[in-house]
Amino acid sequence: MHELSIATAIIEQADARARADGTDAVSTVTVRVGELAGIVPDALTFAFEVARDGTALAGASLVVEQIPAQAYCGPCAEEFAVGMPPFFWCPRCDRPSTELRSGRELEITGIQ
Ligand SMILES: [Zn+2]
Repeated sequence: MHELSIATAIIEQADARARADGTDAVSTVTVRVGELAGIVPDALTFAFEVARDGTALAGASLVVEQIPAQAYCGPCAEEFAVGMPPFFWCPRCDRPSTELRSGRELEITGIQ
């Protein structure tokens, strides 16, 4: 379960950021997870709850914001949802796209 190593990394980063900000109690950590990041939100939340024990974030909860995967179509100059599993084919003009604009995110966006 690679979510556990990801959760551990999130906790380490959030702990370091909270210390840098002079915060000693973290109640919520918010992360953005792209649809194509290969992470199951429920598994990540569960892993976070396991990994937080014994750390400065023992009382913190994790909020996962899912970012839909979007690709860009040049001829249409518009983005479209690629879905899951991803299908890089513009629904408007019926042409393939290779330009993924979002969906691979994995970042901490908020610590409170
Ligand atoms: Zn198009």
